[in-house]
Amino acid sequence: MLVSAAEMLKKAKAGHYAVGQFNINNLEWTKAVLQAAQENNSPVILGVSEGAGKYMCGYTTIVGMVNGMLKELNITVPVALHLDHGSYEHCYKCIEAGFSSIMFDGSHYPIEENVAKTKELVAAAHAKGISIEAEVGSIGGEEDGVVGMGECADPKECKEVADLGVDFLAAGIGNIHGKYPANWKGLSFETLDAIQQLTGDMPLVLHGGTGIPDEMITKAIGLGVAKINVNTECQLVFAEATRKYVESGKDLEGKGFDPRKFLAPGVEAIKAKVKEKMEIFGSINKA
Ligand SMILES: [Zn+2]
Repeated sequence: MLVSAAEMLKKAKAGHYAVGQFNINNLEWTKAVLQAAQENNSPVILGVSEGAGKYMCGYTTIVGMVNGMLKELNITVPVALHLDHGSYEHCYKCIEAGFSSIMFDGSHYPIEENVAKTKELVAAAHAKGISIEAEVGSIGGEEDGVVGMGECADPKECKEVADLGVDFLAAGIGNIHGKYPANWKGLSFETLDAIQQLTGDMPLVLHGGTGIPDEMITKAIGLGVAKINVNTECQLVFAEATRKYVESGKDLEGKGFDPRKFLAPGVEAIKAKVKEKMEIFGSINKA
């Protein structure tokens, strides 16, 4: 059964480790992340972006697939199914469809509107036992070929949004989505520390986990980060493993063209990457 992410992240923050959110794109991806979580006895959050939701034929399809896998694969570790960077409308769609967690990304609204919409969605989500993440200060990333440097959130605004009853909070601390540029200045631990001091027990979320050096991740966990989002890194290892399979001509040998064989190296690569992340985050054997 899917669970809300509130409890697992509260435990993570108190235990000084972080739970990974791994974004999924298809059946193979989902199976790889779930199996890695079960094999390593770790709680896990499956992230679904709106784009991936559309690609996988909508939220009800995803809920059906994930619930089916939990049962058929005998998954017993805590699993949350979470909407990543949801718009106001899509948060409601996921609440309806049976997701166990949502993120409302209202960071592009003026703070008053972000607050009003967040408040409303907190009530709607909690009425169904669903956890909710909010974002303050936008997280940088590549848009139309221009890489924006990550902004730093205002700790007071973080406190204001945390007080609305959200279960965990994403705050920009210089992190960005996708690959980091060579001139990136690193995470702002000063900002993170200030946010944690004001928000207390609130689990904090680090987006854009791809390419942040391990020692920075560890330091961030020490300062209250309890959820780390990983997306691009799984895509990179999946593509690499699949390319190697094709380049070595394996798809031309015997039944190597069978999708169950063709996609297998990519699945194994995702599993290995997820395990590696769980080790760094400290979530192994914390289920
Ligand atoms: Zn993000």
